[in-house]
Amino acid sequence: MKYLYFLTFGFALFLSCNHTTNGILVSDVDAFNTAVANATPGDKIVLKNGIWQDAELLFEAYGTADNPITLTVETKGKVFLEGGSHLNIAGEHLIVEGLIFRNGYTPTNEVISFKKDSKTLAYNTRLTECVIDNYSNPERHEQDSWVALYGKNNRVDHCHFEGKSNRGVTLIVRLNTEESRENNHRIDHNYFGPRPNLGSNGGETLRIGTSHFSLTNSNTLVESNYFDRCNGEHEIISNKSCQNTYRYNTFFECIGTLTMRHGNETLVDGNAFIGNGKASTGGIRVINGQQTVVNNYGYGLTGYRFRGALVLMNGVPNSPLNRYFQVEDAVVDNNAFVDCDHVQLCAGADAERSAAPINSSITNNVFYHQKKGTVFTVYDDVSGIDFNQNWTGSKANHKLGAGVYSAAVPLKKDKNGFLVPVKMPSGEAFTLSDKLAIKENTGAPWYSKEDKGIPLNSGKIIRIDAGQNTLFDAAKTAAPGDIVELAESGNYSTNKIIEVSKALTFRAAKGVSPKVFFEKKSLFDIQNGGSLMLEGITFDGEDAPDGSGNSVVRTSKYSMNKNYKLFIDNCNFVNLDVNHSFDVVRVFKNTFADTLQITNSTFKDVTGHVAALDKEIDDTGIYNAEYVILKNNSFTNIGKTALTLYRGGSDESTFGPFLELENCRFENIGHDKRNTTGASVLLHGVQSIEATNSSFAASKPIKTHLVVGEPVVLFDNLNLYKTPPIQVTGDQPYNIGKITSKRL
Ligand code: CA
Repeated sequence: MKYLYFLTFGFALFLSCNHTTNGILVSDVDAFNTAVANATPGDKIVLKNGIWQDAELLFEAYGTADNPITLTVETKGKVFLEGGSHLNIAGEHLIVEGLIFRNGYTPTNEVISFKKDSKTLAYNTRLTECVIDNYSNPERHEQDSWVALYGKNNRVDHCHFEGKSNRGVTLIVRLNTEESRENNHRIDHNYFGPRPNLGSNGGETLRIGTSHFSLTNSNTLVESNYFDRCNGEHEIISNKSCQNTYRYNTFFECIGTLTMRHGNETLVDGNAFIGNGKASTGGIRVINGQQTVVNNYGYGLTGYRFRGALVLMNGVPNSPLNRYFQVEDAVVDNNAFVDCDHVQLCAGADAERSAAPINSSITNNVFYHQKKGTVFTVYDDVSGIDFNQNWTGSKANHKLGAGVYSAAVPLKKDKNGFLVPVKMPSGEAFTLSDKLAIKENTGAPWYSKEDKGIPLNSGKIIRIDAGQNTLFDAAKTAAPGDIVELAESGNYSTNKIIEVSKALTFRAAKGVSPKVFFEKKSLFDIQNGGSLMLEGITFDGEDAPDGSGNSVVRTSKYSMNKNYKLFIDNCNFVNLDVNHSFDVVRVFKNTFADTLQITNSTFKDVTGHVAALDKEIDDTGIYNAEYVILKNNSFTNIGKTALTLYRGGSDESTFGPFLELENCRFENIGHDKRNTTGASVLLHGVQSIEATNSSFAASKPIKTHLVVGEPVVLFDNLNLYKTPPIQVTGDQPYNIGKITSKRL
């Protein structure tokens, strides 16, 4: 083999003869396969620099403890696996390092799989300094995983995983055969970069086990990893097996929790959860038996319910494997939560989850909030929890008895810059381990962790005059983040759809009132990677085609695996009535808005919906937008609804959508015969509703259907004139916060 290699690559070797001693340089998959087939202990197979397109690699080899076989790269940071590339690893005593997967996605279920097939697994194998960056299937809800661990004694360390935006766990430990249990895997010093909100179950960053094998031991160690804004779903980590350890990990502004979903005897020790006041950031969620939560730190975590800073769940009596086992023998000791909003005890208590925690203790913790009153919410009987020597910053919650004291807790900055108690109730100092992950000591040292996304309004201003297609032409040449400024009060017309595939703003220059007309079925088409802001412009539908189904803004008709933002401020929408079902905003299935915000705007004579966010109708807890904000708007003569927001199904993996509706005026809404909802505003399965200080005249009613969890519902100070009362229905009884509406 080496003889052949010399013949083929003699010239290359002459140029870079270091490689003769450093390994077997291969430049295509055939050469790689030959090298692997002939590999003996101590060999090093080196991928040549450059782009490897559609490289489907099987690295099956058998090294020894003293002489492992290594798959590496010519130069770290210069070998890219793209297109439909993926890697299977099988055998023993192997090392894989330096690979970068980008610009594509795996055609299989796993980008890097620690198996060849169900019988041929990897053992004593190390994956180190590898990168998987935005290597996501374009079909948002097509499922795959980036790394799947099988076998035993494997290690994943100093890898960089960023931007998984389709469904499926980023890093998964499988226990599906005997050979993969009691595995002693070690997952350490990895950088888990930003993962966007999936708006669905299946967005976990790390999962160990499944409910099916959850009562077997995994014995996996997860240590000193940095989780940076891992927001896929509310389980950042889903622990689903026994005897795993999570220690010294840092969770930076992650929307979700480390969840002990299934399995027992987990140790959660010395982790830091830094929320910094960001919405819905969470900490640790305890379910099942013999869970130990010690020495952890939380700061500025705002999450509520299952996303609390610390959550002890209620269980299901005689629970099946896939539901909720009762919390028993939990030990929560020496944790410090500073300025964290919610500690949730007996969370999820309902008719099914009726088994409160038993034989558990909460000792020597600090739950100190500098501003808020009590941080505890108690949903059921806490007599099975023994509280001892805990400090809280406000009056102790009486339901917790004498073990929770109100105390002024002096704080100081520790060496990480975290605000920690000067001392714990025990009198000891609170210290985080030197092994705590920081961004700099995780991931591949040669691969940048800088954010790549370019936000709205971060670019240059492009001023355009009125006229035909000036808007279109400017959008075409604009760079991401640019602002297209309409400089005149005249008419801007376009006869082509403006594709928005980057962050773009269109706004009126100061003091002018431009009007935009369009001749195609839609004016703006938000494509994958696009975000849009509109400011100070009048959009007139007069020139739109005389057919049904027009819109001013629509999403791609195809799957978008990147979330978008849409902001509309101080705009007017008129004459959207050339034909029926003319919407302002139209979305399609498999698209997801992080934020859709409309402020200070007017809508008049619209035959369709202002926004119908109702295209995910499979009732699996999926929906089209996380935050929907309507403030200071006026809606007049809208044929269908001003807003339809739909989330069907009883899945509890997400907490949206969130709706804020404030100071809006609705008149003559919903009377078109094609408005099958019978509503002016339809909210189905919306989990947080705040609708306040608004008026409805001569309109169909607000209809609300509550589907899952404990939705937060506030309808306050709504004036209804010639409009039926608010309808609230639900699949089971709910606690509605408040409904005050006056019928005039
Ligand atoms: Ca989940």
